[in-house]
Amino acid sequence: LAQLYGPLNQLGSVYRAINQSLVDTEKLLKLLNEPTEVNDILNAPDLIVETGEIEFDNVSFSYDDRTTALNGVSFKVPKNSSVALVGESGAGKSTILRLLYRFYDLGPGQGRILIDGKDIREVTQKSLRNAIGVVPQDSVLFNTSIKYNIGYGKFGSSDEEIEAAAKSAQMHDRIVSFPQGYQTVVGERGVRLSGGEKQRVAIARTLLKNPPILLLDEATSALDTQTEKDIQKALQNLMLGRSSLSIAHRLSTIASADIILVLKDGQIVEQGSHKELLALDGVFASMWTSQTDSASGDPAVSVHSAKP
Ligand code: ATP
Repeated sequence: LAQLYGPLNQLGSVYRAINQSLVDTEKLLKLLNEPTEVNDILNAPDLIVETGEIEFDNVSFSYDDRTTALNGVSFKVPKNSSVALVGESGAGKSTILRLLYRFYDLGPGQGRILIDGKDIREVTQKSLRNAIGVVPQDSVLFNTSIKYNIGYGKFGSSDEEIEAAAKSAQMHDRIVSFPQGYQTVVGERGVRLSGGEKQRVAIARTLLKNPPILLLDEATSALDTQTEKDIQKALQNLMLGRSSLSIAHRLSTIASADIILVLKDGQIVEQGSHKELLALDGVFASMWTSQTDSASGDPAVSVHSAKP
């Protein structure tokens, strides 16, 4: 029986590995490759980003023409600033990121999304997406070297560039501790990386891509204090000199954002700095209080499902 059990057990772990990588791939596709009806207009010019200022101007959107995902949303992400989106599940946070990445085009009467004053429907999708770096919740790793996995952010990157990105993303020390350093195979068939490490690989990739605009979908899973600090530092390095929109779950990210948008049922119900929103003593303040109370000092806590 023991002889049989060994191979069966192995088969089980192969199955789990395949299953897990499918789940990861599905998550990436969800954010990056949703089937799109979006077509470029004839002779559309490329987007030229100068400051990276983003504006949502009275944006309303429905996926199915019956339920409203966003309703009259207006806000600006000023040049080089960070905007955090918070709100309950279904409030419309992901929809904002998807619209900016142009998975869907706004129809007549649904408002406008502008980058540097240019309507994103009027430029090529390719140039728009080149200007945007995405750090998803769960990054997909290829079953190959960590060097390839980081260099993927910009094909043709030199070893020096890859190492500089890994340093900035707080991953270099971890990588040099691997048996073959940067040549170490990672993923299901190699060194398994934790969620926090995978996120830092995504940050390193995005540093290499060097886009003026960032979309971040923060992981909801709890991180230990050191990992939390490393990720915050990596994100600070990444966000420097770029405009960013984050779906924020961590108190530390929320507290350091320049502007917080509180979404509820597809509308912005409050917006301001962390200090301003606490002083307002409304929806955000009660989410914050309930989360900081239950977190008892743990900074890696989700405000995602907080009931205002
Ligand atoms: P979560 O934190 O759970 O990811 P969210 O704040 O990101 O939620 P959205 O995903 O933007 O919320 O959803 C906003 C609304 O749009 C919800 O009512 C949701 O059910 C609906 N919705 C989202 N994606 C689709 C879709 N692909 N088709 C139809 N409805 C959708």
